[in-house]
Amino acid sequence: MIHSAFLINDPFGDPGVYVSIKYRRAALLFDLGDLHRLPPRQLLKIDYIFVSHTHMDHFIGFDHLLRVSLGRDRRICLYGPPNFLQNVEDKLRSYTWNLVGNYTNDFEIQVTEVHPTYSICRRYRCRNAFKPEDEERGDFDGTLVRGESFSVRAAFLDHGTPCLAFSFEENTRINIKKNVLQEMGLPTGPWLLDLKAHIMRGEPDDLPVRVWWRQGEGRTDEKMIPLGILRDKVVKITPGQKISYITDVLYSEENARRIIELARGSELIFIEASFIEEDADTAARKCHLTARQAGVLAKSAEAKRMVPFHYSPKYKGEGDILSDEAMETFRENV
Ligand SMILES: [Zn+2]
Repeated sequence: MIHSAFLINDPFGDPGVYVSIKYRRAALLFDLGDLHRLPPRQLLKIDYIFVSHTHMDHFIGFDHLLRVSLGRDRRICLYGPPNFLQNVEDKLRSYTWNLVGNYTNDFEIQVTEVHPTYSICRRYRCRNAFKPEDEERGDFDGTLVRGESFSVRAAFLDHGTPCLAFSFEENTRINIKKNVLQEMGLPTGPWLLDLKAHIMRGEPDDLPVRVWWRQGEGRTDEKMIPLGILRDKVVKITPGQKISYITDVLYSEENARRIIELARGSELIFIEASFIEEDADTAARKCHLTARQAGVLAKSAEAKRMVPFHYSPKYKGEGDILSDEAMETFRENV
């Protein structure tokens, strides 16, 4: 696993999950509620923030993050639902920025507002007093970020207002077993990149792979080996794992279908469990899930582990009834 993920606050606190990407000093955030539990050291690693919607408990951390980031060389990319650009710009406009032109660092926020079929992106630089710049429009096909080591997808849900659910997925990794290569008398070199590309494309076992190496004086030697043999012997393939973040959603057939499709096969699913099943009417009225519904969804998505969160304050002191209800449903045999 190249990541670790945890809830920022306790399940009654503001929702939010911190995902840290090992080896890269990078991190990403799902939702931007109260962030005071995160030390600045962790806040400063955040490159990407995915905001489900801008109800206050999911967005009030924006100011805190801005405060910690001012005067630093960094860029943060934010993603959010329709009207997100306006929400961010209103926040930025509520401060006075007359002296930032003198700053020597470059702090930049890149904000992408996501619509069901397209997205709009604007840039805000501290040195330019956070005025909107460089608007770009693009298509939205479900994927927000396609990175070197991971990607992030989003689904549109109904919470009385559009609300985004997210899934973070590591890319499949292919590692070369150097010792085996040596035992087989094969060299390292650029041919290994081609080998990885063949494997990623799922090409057939009998495809001849050209193994080549330099023999001094501009001469190269080569040997053809079937892909199947190389795939079996010299590589270790680690499939990427998936983490999903689902919150603030009405339980409906359409929402359930979208959640299951997005979160299918997650190693870990963070999912709101705001009310007990007995209070299902209240949950529906407030466009939230019950703990039982959370369990059903996590189970239907075939998630391996579930973390329920975003408990209604109504159950303060008895969080166990929510987590028990969610967990029992999740583990039930159907
Ligand atoms: Zn909420």
